[in-house]
Amino acid sequence: MTRQSTTRQGTEPTPATADGVDLSTADKFGIVNPATGRVFAHAPAVGVDQLDHVFSTAQRAYDSWQDDEPARRAALRAAADRLDSAADELAPLLTAEQGKPLLHARDEITRSALWLRYFADLEVPREIVRDDAEAYQEVVRRPLGVVVAITPWNFPIMLAFWKIAPALRAGNTVVVKPSPYTPLTMLAVGKLLREVLPAGVLSVISGPEPLGAAAVAHRIPRKVSFTGSTVVGRQVGIAAAADFKRVTLELGGNDPAILLDDVDVDRIAPSLFWSAFVNSGQVCLGAKRIYVHHSIHARVVEAMAALAGTVVVGDGAMPGAQFGPLNNLPQFERVKELVGDAVHHGAAVAAGGAPLDRDGYFYPPTVLSAVTDGIRVVDEEQFGPVMPIVAFDDEADVVRRANASAYGLTASVWSADPERAYALAAEVDSGQVSVNVHGGGIMPTLPFGGHKDSGIGVENGPWGLASYTDIQVIAGPPRNPS
Ligand code: NAD
Repeated sequence: MTRQSTTRQGTEPTPATADGVDLSTADKFGIVNPATGRVFAHAPAVGVDQLDHVFSTAQRAYDSWQDDEPARRAALRAAADRLDSAADELAPLLTAEQGKPLLHARDEITRSALWLRYFADLEVPREIVRDDAEAYQEVVRRPLGVVVAITPWNFPIMLAFWKIAPALRAGNTVVVKPSPYTPLTMLAVGKLLREVLPAGVLSVISGPEPLGAAAVAHRIPRKVSFTGSTVVGRQVGIAAAADFKRVTLELGGNDPAILLDDVDVDRIAPSLFWSAFVNSGQVCLGAKRIYVHHSIHARVVEAMAALAGTVVVGDGAMPGAQFGPLNNLPQFERVKELVGDAVHHGAAVAAGGAPLDRDGYFYPPTVLSAVTDGIRVVDEEQFGPVMPIVAFDDEADVVRRANASAYGLTASVWSADPERAYALAAEVDSGQVSVNVHGGGIMPTLPFGGHKDSGIGVENGPWGLASYTDIQVIAGPPRNPS
């Protein structure tokens, strides 16, 4: 859904990477710093007609990369070291194109290194089902070939490495296509990792649509790993089906947090607050609908509004900023529209509620009460800094309301009695449900993926690794007949 248009090259942007070297392009496109609303840099606009070259070189690299497992593990570890040592240099660029505070940008880069190390150590499973005097039967996993990784603008580096690390570990080669809103840091990472990865193993291309659609339709890649909206994910799934490409689709969410009547509001307030507002609310698994038992509803609204008043909102590059701008103009307009619609339908604004009067896409943390299901800000994925706090009376009813959404990405249940919360958690239909924290299952070891319209497949852990392979049976007579 990018709005950028391409222009002829003038100053040199960070180049795309293909076959381990610069990929020169005729065009470039502007990248906006969301803290100013102005173009501050350009990225190469890779042409659809260049995809044959990009994918053929990735395919050629696959032939040798898939064969040398120790080399792959070593390369992943070396890539992790390079990311760690470049984090201070890369973080300001990530902040400039994405908007997030510098510390969070740095953290995103170093966390990506954790994923590389985790997958470097993980075994690709081989299972000998039978090995006796009559038969040998083994189930192995083979890499797929070239993988296309398509990423959104909220965590441009981390979400790319959720794909790159397992895909490379399994023996595939990868072509990353970042969001046209935030391609610059990934382009820089592509260039950086040329030092430690063989040519063609990791390519990074940028450009406005139809580059992503053309990559999905291209005949060479065997898998598309996509993170983004449900609308585009559906198009990707349909296009990939044409030649049976494997897909992992990590899509939207409208994640409920359910607070039972015994919650100690003061104790959980900061954790609940940041589960909705970190990254200015632009987190797929952020708490987006807060269902609170009516007996503590007023106290929760008060606590969230009080915290909203303390947050330092500003350019992510500013020391001490906790909360940056929204990433792009369409997202900024969407948040304004959803809050306006909620107020029109009777919502009470306890904090925030209007954009800041300054350049850039600044919208402060916004807490809404007097809201309920049926209004857009509760029913739709807002993907912004808005916390609608909805009252409920009955536990069975709140589970029904949580599950009524077409989405099913994550959820959380909060109670002073963990057992009570765990029992309710099991009834929520989503890929992860956390107890007394939101997003408690985000780590390399645990599978992450959505139910229903939130996607297909999972990332992370051995389950994520397996999704970059096809299963193969090798069976026959005894292997070593005596
Ligand atoms: P988006 O769907 O607009 O774009 C995602 C990516 O797809 C971008 O790189 C874009 O250029 C590309 N793209 C656009 N049209 C395409 C097409 N026809 N074929 C192939 N690629 C195409 O999403 P966004 O606005 O960048 O990101 C926000 C969305 O991402 C939200 O809905 C959010 O919930 C979701 N998200 C999900 C997860 C998850 O893990 N489930 C994580 C982060 C974000």
